[in-house]
Amino acid sequence: SWSSSDSVISTDSAEGTAEPGSPYRVVLLGASGVGKTAFASIFAGAADSMDSDDCELCGDEVCEREIEVDGESATLTVLDTWDSETGIEWAQECPMQRGDAYLLLYSVTDRASFLRASELRIILRRFRPAQHTPIILVGNKCDLVRRREVSVSEGRACAAVFDCKFIETSAAMQHNIWEAFHGIVRQLRLRRDSKEA
Ligand code: GDP
Repeated sequence: SWSSSDSVISTDSAEGTAEPGSPYRVVLLGASGVGKTAFASIFAGAADSMDSDDCELCGDEVCEREIEVDGESATLTVLDTWDSETGIEWAQECPMQRGDAYLLLYSVTDRASFLRASELRIILRRFRPAQHTPIILVGNKCDLVRRREVSVSEGRACAAVFDCKFIETSAAMQHNIWEAFHGIVRQLRLRRDSKEA
């Protein structure tokens, strides 16, 4: 379900020109219970990678760490959000305005969360009208095969309508979580490179 074709574009020419110190802010959005906290803790714990010591947890909602993607390091600040589902008031709070990129999560076992992801995408468009804000629609809990309510093709079709990437993940199985973060970094680099071109 995941296309990594973006990554074929070389980032060599951009070396040294983007502010190397500034982390990318990645915001986790989605209905409650879809797995945002699980995502953030995998990112924070980073069992599988790099020097896991340099993760700073501020509260337990924000984590900053350096990861390596395609041989180049990137610093990500991941913001876990709490979806109070109170609509507009919530939408005017900061998370929607703070991201450089967004992981828009739903649970494949919960159709309501899939619908919520669509609502959040529409709200997000108001805050991030720019075409190139990286967004990945993430169908989490794909390990719960028997409880699935949203098919892969529905997820993919929704992402196509919303003009964003799509991936299915399982935080429980640690499946595709890093692919999602790496995909975000690749999209951010593409955007950075096209700005500099
Ligand atoms: P949040 O409200 O979006 O932060 O959701 P949480 O990360 O707290 O997850 C809600 C519940 O779903 C917890 O009990 C998690 O253990 C569980 N959960 C999260 N991701 C997965 C997954 O990929 N598979 C399964 N089976 N359970 C998951």
